[in-house]
Amino acid sequence: MLRVAVIGGGPSGSCTAEILAKAGIKTWLFERKLDNAKPCGGAIPLCMVSEFDLPESIIDRKVRNMKMISPSNREVDIILDKIYPGSDKEYIGMLRREVMDSFMRNRAAELGATLVNGLVSKIETGTNKQGPYTLHYTEVINEQSEEKGKQIEVDLIVGADGATSRVAKAMDAGDYNYAVAIQERIKLPKEEMKYYEDRAEMYVGNDVSPDFYGWVFPKYDHVAAGTGTMKENGGLIKSLQMGVRERAKKRLVNGEVIKVEAHPIPEHPRPRRVVGRMALVGDAAGYVTKSSGEGIYFAAKSGRMCGEQIVESSQNGKIIPTESDLKKYLQKWDKKYGTTYTVLDILQRIFYTSDGAREAFVEMCSDMDVQRLTFDSYLYKTVVAMKPLQQLKLTLLTMGSVLRGWALAPGTYKPVPSAVRDEKEVNKMLAVSTIKGGIKASKK
Ligand SMILES: Cc1cc2nc3c(=O)[nH]c(=O)nc-3n(C[C@H](O)[C@H](O)[C@H](O)COP(=O)(O)OP(=O)(O)OC[C@H]3O[C@@H](n4cnc5c(N)ncnc54)[C@H](O)[C@@H]3O)c2cc1C
Repeated sequence: MLRVAVIGGGPSGSCTAEILAKAGIKTWLFERKLDNAKPCGGAIPLCMVSEFDLPESIIDRKVRNMKMISPSNREVDIILDKIYPGSDKEYIGMLRREVMDSFMRNRAAELGATLVNGLVSKIETGTNKQGPYTLHYTEVINEQSEEKGKQIEVDLIVGADGATSRVAKAMDAGDYNYAVAIQERIKLPKEEMKYYEDRAEMYVGNDVSPDFYGWVFPKYDHVAAGTGTMKENGGLIKSLQMGVRERAKKRLVNGEVIKVEAHPIPEHPRPRRVVGRMALVGDAAGYVTKSSGEGIYFAAKSGRMCGEQIVESSQNGKIIPTESDLKKYLQKWDKKYGTTYTVLDILQRIFYTSDGAREAFVEMCSDMDVQRLTFDSYLYKTVVAMKPLQQLKLTLLTMGSVLRGWALAPGTYKPVPSAVRDEKEVNKMLAVSTIKGGIKASKK
């Protein structure tokens, strides 16, 4: 009888464990911290709700308006009512990871996975890394006590332990390029919070990130404002976050930071994602997309696909799958999503490299064809075919926007105006106090 350890109880691990448990395979799901609040914007595409059977109760906000803000503060509204006239079912889900993760983890446990509240500290990988594998872990018994030195032997490991994966190290999966991201959770006055209730903002410009974007996303009773940048610019991360604060300060006026969080974001798949009978999924494998920084859906989906491959190759747990059996999951994954990763990588290289290109990017977002194409593929995760005329229009639009963008790029950056107060009132408020608490750094 096959024995599987899934290490990491985020979306990728819970989805793997769920599939294995449903097939009756003996599965242990290890999570070091059951109330873990993974640093995350918490934005999920609509299709994830039905595909992963998520209850609407775990979704804090349904965003139907997205605002793109260029370096010169040109604001482009993407309004789902306009993209999908007559339909109110489309939205971007905004949730708190602590809520979603515990829901998915508990569901896997209810289906039969053994949930272990433990930190896996060492993995013995057997001859040629082929297993059986011995996991050493510390089990959390309750808030006051833990049991060190525990061990378990398994035939197969799924590494769902995130960007700093211990499983990836044990299997010598190789390094990947990564970005660093920071986020402040900010409580706002009720007028400002009302504005953000069904709205997310995306800021681009060298002041907020040289290679990514800054965001303000609504959560349950606060917003999350953050930014990211590639690791080589990691030293700038605090000053970039100050850039986000500065640009959005009239919208975040009188806000109070209740939490600061930071975490790496993988920017590329690992060189090796399956070694022996060890497979990586989610961030451990490196499945976050460029341009959007989206990883939750891809974590859950890769966990599910890896689980399904294990069920199939093991004949529901009767035999131990081989390395080449597990690699079939990689082939299916790359076939399904390879193009998505490539396209988003190219877009990031074209549009996030200079303020001229960023102006062009925001200008292009005002086109309805672009909006529809982007949202169809984001919300429904389907590859959307373009008509030849649409394609031609998009090419001309890109060229025109890029040329115009250079002229529009600003020399300095200014705060965007308040969305709910007049200029005099907001300036008066800012003279008394800006955002309270949070990170401290000088602006670059
Ligand atoms: C600031 C920020 C904002 C983001 N915003 C978004 C967004 O809005 N939308 C989106 O789609 N993606 C976003 N992402 C990316 C997204 O958070 C990840 O892609 C996603 O969490 C990956 O899920 P996962 O299950 O693979 O890994 P994780 O969510 O990282 O889960 C790994 C789990 O493993 C546990 N663990 C780790 N090591 C061990 C161990 N040794 N023993 C036991 N347990 C262990 C951890 O406690 C954790 O619970 C963001 C990322 C960052 C950093």
